[in-house]
Amino acid sequence: MLPLTEDQKLVRDTVRAFAREELWPLAPAYDESGEYPWPQLRKLAELGLLGMTTPEEWGGAGMDAVSWALALEEIAYADPSVAVIVSVTSGLPQYMLLKFGTDEQKERFLVPLARGEWIGAFALTEPQAGSDPAALKTRARRVDGGWVLSGTKAWITSAGQAELYVVMARTGEERKAITAFLVQKDAKGLSFGLPEAKMGLHAAHTAEVRLEEVFVPDNQVLGEVGRGLSHALAGLDSGRIGIAAQAVGIAQAAFDIARDYADEREQFGRKIRTFEGISFKLAELDTHIAAARHLVWSAARKKDGGGRFTLEAARAKLFATRTAVDTTREAIQILGANGYHKDYRVERYYRDAKVTEIYEGTSEIQKLVIARELYR
Ligand SMILES: Cc1cc2nc3c(=O)[nH]c(=O)nc-3n(C[C@H](O)[C@H](O)[C@H](O)COP(=O)(O)OP(=O)(O)OC[C@H]3O[C@@H](n4cnc5c(N)ncnc54)[C@H](O)[C@@H]3O)c2cc1C
Repeated sequence: MLPLTEDQKLVRDTVRAFAREELWPLAPAYDESGEYPWPQLRKLAELGLLGMTTPEEWGGAGMDAVSWALALEEIAYADPSVAVIVSVTSGLPQYMLLKFGTDEQKERFLVPLARGEWIGAFALTEPQAGSDPAALKTRARRVDGGWVLSGTKAWITSAGQAELYVVMARTGEERKAITAFLVQKDAKGLSFGLPEAKMGLHAAHTAEVRLEEVFVPDNQVLGEVGRGLSHALAGLDSGRIGIAAQAVGIAQAAFDIARDYADEREQFGRKIRTFEGISFKLAELDTHIAAARHLVWSAARKKDGGGRFTLEAARAKLFATRTAVDTTREAIQILGANGYHKDYRVERYYRDAKVTEIYEGTSEIQKLVIARELYR
């Protein structure tokens, strides 16, 4: 594994200092209130962290994907809710606009997203179409000058808060006849459900996006008509690196709390870290986190190299998210009763970690992707 460059180390250290000072102290209160973290997002925007990998000519910071992953890990360490919002807005809508958008669309939509003036959302899932997105029912009807969209999207991160929605809708009878559309928040006929009552990630609102006869002009079709599902899947390759980085950040945070606790807590007249049952657990977790981080960097490097990175992104997501769930669960165990108390943070990391195995493709779907890539 190649070492980090000096620039990448600088990004990591700068974001770490910022996140531990500005995000870490507020994360428990935001988990409690469920408020969307606008003040934190505005500060991240000022630092150029909402459009890190978008080129400077389109309002971004023009950094590489490794730097992006390092930043997301540090943000997630301090507040996983903020991390998923950042991962989605930069990893999905911005990436898709950059890859498939026209120059006019980049000017109108990518620039404000990359500058962090707007948050972006990715609307693929529907109540009956999760792991099988080709089963989506939202329809786009052809009319003069554009399309009229009707349907319901479910579980959309930042719904109601984001300004721009990349909406995948059916534009033909064939199963994969799906097109991606750029829909702005104030479009007539667009409305949102209330934030879902989730187990974790309380500050990262997730809600329904309802489209009732929403007119979308032709110049807001993203990419090719009929290729929206493949554009969305390309977006998810990118997004998965972000979610894997988020998972590493969550795992590292819970691990650090458990490691320090095991060095302080005494039972039977000894620090609990001197029991093999605890020290071997810590050794295993440490090794898994290091391996997960390297898989994330490896996927990010492949992306930076310009090659296909579907396999590397799926591997990173599968392994890092499992590591996050295992580490947070074991961290609670190491803290005993205190692990079950809100004051020690690890119960929140456990609640936040679980969904990383579900969104942007469940772990089962990552295995399907990996198995398919093995025979490509
Ligand atoms: C907090 C949160 C945020 C989200 N944000 C977004 C967002 O911003 N945009 C968006 O579009 N979606 C979003 N989602 C939706 C998410 O991507 C889906 O929940 C996910 O893809 C799984 O779909 P599902 O929940 O319908 O589960 P299902 O597809 O119903 O799966 C149920 C179970 O069956 C398994 N399964 C399904 N098919 C197979 C198979 N072929 N082989 C083996 N096992 C299988 C699954 O792995 C899972 O264990 C979000 C979800 C959550 C919880």
